[in-house]
Amino acid sequence: MSTDRTTPVEPTEGGTVPVTPREHESSSSVPHKQIGPYTIEHKIGAGGMGTVYLGTHVETGEQAAVKVLPSMLAREPGFVARFNREIDALKKLSHPNVVQLYESGVDNSSGGDLSIYYYAMEYVEGETLTSRIKRTKRIPWRETIDIAVQICAALKSAHNAGVIHRDLKPSNLLLARDGTVKLTDFGVAQVFATNKLTLTGGVIGTAEYMAPEQAEGKRANKQSDLYALGAVMYVMITGRPPFTGKAAIDIATKQKTGLFDSPRMIVPEIPYWLDEVICKCLEKKPDDRYPDAYVLSRRLEEIPRKVDLASASNTATFEIDAPPDAETLAADATPGEREVGATLMRDLMRAQLEQEKTPTSTVAQLLDSVWVLAGLLLLLIVGGVVWFSQTQLTDQEKFDAGEALMQKGDRASMRKARDEYFKPLVEEDAETWEPKVADYLRQIELAEESRGFDRLSLRPLNQQSSSEIARIIRRARREREIGELSRALQTLRSLKTLLPETDVYLDFRLEIDERIDEINRELTTNSREVLNQAVERAESMTEAGQIEDARYVWLSIVDLYDTDPHATEAVAQAKQWLEEHPAPASSETEPDE
Ligand code: ADP
Ligand code: MG
Repeated sequence: MSTDRTTPVEPTEGGTVPVTPREHESSSSVPHKQIGPYTIEHKIGAGGMGTVYLGTHVETGEQAAVKVLPSMLAREPGFVARFNREIDALKKLSHPNVVQLYESGVDNSSGGDLSIYYYAMEYVEGETLTSRIKRTKRIPWRETIDIAVQICAALKSAHNAGVIHRDLKPSNLLLARDGTVKLTDFGVAQVFATNKLTLTGGVIGTAEYMAPEQAEGKRANKQSDLYALGAVMYVMITGRPPFTGKAAIDIATKQKTGLFDSPRMIVPEIPYWLDEVICKCLEKKPDDRYPDAYVLSRRLEEIPRKVDLASASNTATFEIDAPPDAETLAADATPGEREVGATLMRDLMRAQLEQEKTPTSTVAQLLDSVWVLAGLLLLLIVGGVVWFSQTQLTDQEKFDAGEALMQKGDRASMRKARDEYFKPLVEEDAETWEPKVADYLRQIELAEESRGFDRLSLRPLNQQSSSEIARIIRRARREREIGELSRALQTLRSLKTLLPETDVYLDFRLEIDERIDEINRELTTNSREVLNQAVERAESMTEAGQIEDARYVWLSIVDLYDTDPHATEAVAQAKQWLEEHPAPASSETEPDE
């Protein structure tokens, strides 16, 4: 009789009872010599949800990683039902990049009410991504992409089967010796999702890799896994997760509202495109991330090709990638490929460089001037205060002057009334003047609140939030100055998500939208230039009869820009050309019968 691999093993109910005698041991590392049908060899590791042992199946001799869950869990209401339900779904998952679940069960052999819940899975020899990062600190970007693409494949297959991982993190990623990446503990977080455990032990999900919506207690979806993958890519590239903190709650708060340094700020040599992909995965709003793991993997796979195409040129100033392998690549290419690659590359590069050096954009200047204006305004007020403090007015005269300014009704006058008359009066003699100016002060407060920019630069209502907002604005400005337009866009978008949806911020929100539009326009112009040059090149090649060279350029355009909303026209043109010029059938590779 063999062990049924699809139903939980119930050792006490006969039939599936393992044949070897059981030893009731309570050694601290290995509690039993046998669990279910597995002889336990030794402990592999322990985590938040139990202990993992290397086991051997008593009948088949197959090795397995056996995970034993904490015994207190069995007493949780609803746990058993949830365990069985989830495990059933997980057994259906079968993919080269997913650690295969073999079976699960409850072992009651030790008697009493002590039930040991366990599940057995494929044993992966190698190391976890955690220990890999510990060992090498960082992972080169090409390898990072290779790993991430494999994780995408795992996620895609699970998501298609309706399973969300919920706890994607480096310790759940096993790197097999042959380079295969295997994702484990799929959906297991859900099994443990009881209020009690979540509150007490932070068992569900790991704060560093948890999407903002999960941190808020909302249901995890496909995009939550993509966020976690973004955080995993981030840690591979930079050696640390996007957000760190002492307590899980601090990290969770940062996931919801904090900004992280873009990976390229920490490791400038990585390709611009990879930086962009990671940041997009880490968007606060699920809808702003990639629609699914497949699209993400496509974007990732394009990056090395884009970089290689770019590196095929010998121009040293190109900084997308430090090209140690550029020469090897160029040498590997056939002369034709090399030439066309270099030509297209030059076009691409020129545009990229242009994009990189648009710091003196009108928008940057505008942003600047706002700050300059704010500074001037501040100076004016300070100057006014000093001047007025020298002129001797009686208290009543001060109050009258303040009232007169209030009648004017513009914000500058109101501010002046507050700072030069009303506040000094209250400071001097609160008892007399506070009741008289209170209404005016409230009125001014309201007027200030309705102006987002003033709040930010001059009169923070809430110290904490406004300083955070001011910091983000500075950051967006800096990014624009150095020509990191996409980065600046992203920062402004995050800023928008951060702002409370109240009228107080209405003006400010409109202001941000304007900036976003401006940057978008700049980006569009830039990418249009690259494409226009590539299109021109392809057209003149066609005219000169260099059809195969032209084909290479058109193909590259489709390949690199197919999903780019700024490039719809060029891509359509490329596709039409390719349709009109079908590739010649190769008689050598496809011989007739
Ligand atoms: P965590 O994922 O929080 O580290 P786990 O209990 O899931 O905790 O796993 C503990 C450790 O056991 C992992 O860090 C890993 O080293 C090891 N491990 C887990 N599953 C396997 C497996 N299928 N094959 C090999 N080692 C594993
Ligand atoms: Mg795990």
